[in-house]
Amino acid sequence: MRNLLFFLLMAFVTGAASAQDGPRRNITVPDIPGYHTLKGDFHMHTVFSDGLVWPTLRVIEAWQEGLDVIALTDHVEYQPFKSDVNNDRNRPHAIAEQKAAELGILLIRGGEITRKMPPGHSNALFLKDVNKLDTTNWQDAFAEAKSQGAFVFWNHPGWKAQQPDTTKWFDEHTRLLEQGMIQGIEIVNYMEYYPEAFAWALEKNLTILGNSDIHGSIYQEYDAKSGLKRPVTLVFARERSAEGVKSALKEGNTAVLFNGNLYGRQEWLKALFGACVGQEVNAAASGSEQHSIFLTNYSDIDFRLIPGKDAMKNHLIYPLDLPAHSTIALSVTPRQLGGPGKLSLPLGFTVDNMFVAPGKKLEVIVRF
Ligand SMILES: [Zn+2]
Ligand SMILES: [Zn+2]
Repeated sequence: MRNLLFFLLMAFVTGAASAQDGPRRNITVPDIPGYHTLKGDFHMHTVFSDGLVWPTLRVIEAWQEGLDVIALTDHVEYQPFKSDVNNDRNRPHAIAEQKAAELGILLIRGGEITRKMPPGHSNALFLKDVNKLDTTNWQDAFAEAKSQGAFVFWNHPGWKAQQPDTTKWFDEHTRLLEQGMIQGIEIVNYMEYYPEAFAWALEKNLTILGNSDIHGSIYQEYDAKSGLKRPVTLVFARERSAEGVKSALKEGNTAVLFNGNLYGRQEWLKALFGACVGQEVNAAASGSEQHSIFLTNYSDIDFRLIPGKDAMKNHLIYPLDLPAHSTIALSVTPRQLGGPGKLSLPLGFTVDNMFVAPGKKLEVIVRF
């Protein structure tokens, strides 16, 4: 009895396999050939700036929400609670590290360079010492981030507090870009999507990110019951490691998942659609009047396919809903295929919720 009590006490003290961390609800978005599809949030706050939660809780939230990689990015220049905690900007990362290791969450050391517009706010990731970014001139903070080998992105470019009339790209941003001091941009922040930022990302070859910028608890600010979840940056990494994430971010291998929509460069969204949706011939029906195929959605994302001109000519005239984790059957007649046994009729569709540019949707081919 005494031994049992001792064991229970030790288990409690060391906190092994603590149930309070779970359950984790996995986000199912399949890997694409040659890459891991990692789910990330690279913008969040703790009590070490103006957030309301302890760093460890950010890791637990991320675990529960199915993320693989996060960065705590407290404001470098703004710490309203510093008399209660302290203003060592490396502390949030240090505090969160153990829990991240326990849960297998990749934790990236970061900070938010918080300046007035221009250039506004930017996050620097993969920093070695966040404190060194506390400089008088903003130019020196960016130069310091660069010297530490950081990946830097412009945060919430359309934030009304800093861009009240129009969402503007300033000369300062051009200079930062030319000096290799910004490599990415948020096209989604918190609950807002910025089409202007998406267009800039494509035009200026910036990495696309969508992050929560969460300050309170994630459950308090996003109403999961209503279906609104935090934005997720999908990172296509060759390996599941901090180094793998860094290379992927620097190379622009990302897409954003927010509010049921996907945003990204055409090549990545095309590969992602191919990984999410499988096409299979319905062999049992191949001898019948109609030839049918199955489309299966292996992901958590609901897709809607809009038939193109040729598909409509072949009587596929209605939008096709392909909900998460479901299969639909589509049919065309042998006559339409050019005779029985001829199985190569490629028909074009537009994916209604995949954006390769502002207002431009991904086009895909389905083969019958
Ligand atoms: Zn900010
Ligand atoms: Zn922020």
